[in-house]
Amino acid sequence: MQMELHLFWIIFAVLMLVEAFVAENTFFTLASYWVMTAILAIVPLWDNKEFLVSQGIQIAAIVCLICYQKPGMETVAYLSANQLMCCIISRQSYYNFRQRVADATAIDTAKTLSEMDPMTNLLNRRGMERSLERIWPGYVRNNKTVAVMMIDIDNFKKYNDYFGHLEGDNCIRQVTEEIRKITRRKADFAARVGGEEFVVCLSEIEKSEALKRAAGLKENVEKLNIRQAEDNFLPIVSVSIGVAWGHARRDTDFAQMQKEADEALYRAKENGRACVYLDGKCYAKTKRIENIRQYYEEREFRSLG
Ligand code: GH3
Ligand code: MG
Ligand code: MG
Repeated sequence: MQMELHLFWIIFAVLMLVEAFVAENTFFTLASYWVMTAILAIVPLWDNKEFLVSQGIQIAAIVCLICYQKPGMETVAYLSANQLMCCIISRQSYYNFRQRVADATAIDTAKTLSEMDPMTNLLNRRGMERSLERIWPGYVRNNKTVAVMMIDIDNFKKYNDYFGHLEGDNCIRQVTEEIRKITRRKADFAARVGGEEFVVCLSEIEKSEALKRAAGLKENVEKLNIRQAEDNFLPIVSVSIGVAWGHARRDTDFAQMQKEADEALYRAKENGRACVYLDGKCYAKTKRIENIRQYYEEREFRSLG
């Protein structure tokens, strides 16, 4: 648009200058001058520098007009008033336009921020709902396979009580990085829906692959080797994961799958934590460490913070 406007204006300015020298009918010269200034005034795209250049050329055209066609005082007054009006309207519409663009950008940024969890940069609950509104109808239309995972850090209250809230936040961030890694497609997403609870939605995925990814995630969190509280059943931070898998038909909406995943998570917790639950079966369970003190003495731990 900017380029077309420049081209249009340059052609018009040249014609104006030519007309100022050769035209016999002042009426046409004035009319074309008026059209040019009106367009310049209304289209709010020129910045201040471009506007100054265009004004310079226009004033040159007026001077030529006055010198060569010698119009009466009335016409000169009309031209000057017209030019002044053009300046005022053009700059006002330019600033209004800039303000509208700035407002729209600010609204966009606020919207994005309101859909993000600031601590982990994952989607929050509202962001998840917005994403679903966008992607779910496509999943239903194409009857895509979907896996929904509910992930929860085990005995996190103990961790917080033992290491403090700040260290707890650091731990959540580290676990989040592992969760982020399992979302590979553009439409996949991970959201933080509670203090230490996350939802992951993966599309176009076989059931066995969904299970593999959940088990892999669980193992990777344990591989972070983040020390847990001493009275925990494991010496390291672990997660439990409930998985629901299905086709995104109209009768299995996301809320239903999330509920199923939540129930699977509940069963994983009941079954001693640090495992994955799918279809009522427990997978990848980490064995309880009996002698935690000895474990601590034998290993190096990651220090957070
Ligand atoms: P479970 O294995 O059954 O999930 O036990 P839990 O202790 O993890 O579960 P519970 O839901 O009882 O406690 C969650 C704890 O997570 C409570 C609170 O201390 C902690 N928490 C929640 N949000 C945050 C947060 O943003 N930062 C930190 N540091 N802690 C949080
Ligand atoms: Mg928990
Ligand atoms: Mg919880």
